[in-house]
Amino acid sequence: MRKYRKNTPTANAGQKPEGPKQHTATQGPKVLEPSDIPRDYIIDTLGSMNIFISKDSRLKKDRLRHRLEKGLDASQRYTGIFGDAKAVVNPPDYPAWPDNQDLEAAMDRRVWGGFMKHEEDQPVGFMRLRELILSLVKAQKQGKHTVIFAEGSTALIVKMLGICAPKVTRPLIVVGYMSVSGTKQVNLADLLKRLIPEDQQSSVTRVFTTTSEQNLFWHLLNQNGNRLPPSFQPEGLGEGYQAGFVLPICQLSMEDVGRLNKSEGCVMCGNPSRAVCTRCMDTDYCMCQKEHWKEHKVLCRSISELPWMMVTLQPSLHAFVTGINRYYDLDDGLKTTQSDSQPSAPLNIHGEKYHLLKLQLSLGNIDDPHFLVYDRYRSFQLLFRPDDNHLTFAIAVQAMDGYPKMYRWAKREGDWDWSICFALGPDKDPRW
Ligand SMILES: [Zn+2]
Ligand SMILES: [Zn+2]
Repeated sequence: MRKYRKNTPTANAGQKPEGPKQHTATQGPKVLEPSDIPRDYIIDTLGSMNIFISKDSRLKKDRLRHRLEKGLDASQRYTGIFGDAKAVVNPPDYPAWPDNQDLEAAMDRRVWGGFMKHEEDQPVGFMRLRELILSLVKAQKQGKHTVIFAEGSTALIVKMLGICAPKVTRPLIVVGYMSVSGTKQVNLADLLKRLIPEDQQSSVTRVFTTTSEQNLFWHLLNQNGNRLPPSFQPEGLGEGYQAGFVLPICQLSMEDVGRLNKSEGCVMCGNPSRAVCTRCMDTDYCMCQKEHWKEHKVLCRSISELPWMMVTLQPSLHAFVTGINRYYDLDDGLKTTQSDSQPSAPLNIHGEKYHLLKLQLSLGNIDDPHFLVYDRYRSFQLLFRPDDNHLTFAIAVQAMDGYPKMYRWAKREGDWDWSICFALGPDKDPRW
């Protein structure tokens, strides 16, 4: 694998390489810009990153894609490494990745608790993207520097061109990439044969990758590639390839989850909102209130008609788990800033917003009946014990109506305090 030398300015330095081109089919390979990721796939992918957008949402596709870009940056800890989302990344400025440092381990960053699973427990979007990135590294370990991510008639070719270390434990892999598509005249296999010379075939491996997954990966590479300076032309890029790079990706921090789940404007369509629900005065709309009513009505009724109770929650035995994202740093692993005796209050990612809580009753230990309480993102995982307020606890138990779990609207009132409306839950249990 190539190490970077300081770039010597070349004749075309300063000239920004043009964006992906649509080559004409008669002139050799058909290079594509796969801009069209299906809307549902973006929403699913965002969901797999813990950024939830309703399937009914009428948020415009460019806004969805913008959210996806922000999510991908958050997963790469982009601003953490480079200081600024707009920072230009020039690989020759960074030291080479040391040969004796395990690249696969450095790329395979897991935050404890693993990745969020799709509702049907199928890994989608984000988890898959992570697998694709890891497959590059695995291929490299076997001496294969080019990976063809393909399905049917479409393929994304990614070749690894060099590795540097913008931070000591953070590798950055420079790649050349090209998206191609077979046609009636030239099928994908022939096209790939034409694109990859005979003498390089032995360093190529293939990974089955759906077209949507290819497109998602392409967008990540493109998003990163746009941050390379125009003067940077990696050696071995080859004709038709764009330069881009990959960084390790991992689950979003809870701060980012909170930030990226904030709806801007109307909760349905994202238009700058012009009104609030007149009944509860809580939810923002433009003209979409009617469509959102089905989803909103329980919260609305809870706020405007029903009693709310103050509940003080407690850290669980596994309290350290709740704050894991706050203390997990990609470079330092798990920090031990959280002392055992004084658990710090859980992060407030909801601000003043109403959010659903899941309450699970545990009567296993007769001396310690309690609810396990958490939010959709598991930004906290706390206990509700009857200690100071047996009456509230009894009301909560009664609200369960014999079921082992319930979902209820709540609002953060203090470090450990929530007001909760036990009287009413959503018509249908959300699945988390
Ligand atoms: Zn709207
Ligand atoms: Zn309302």
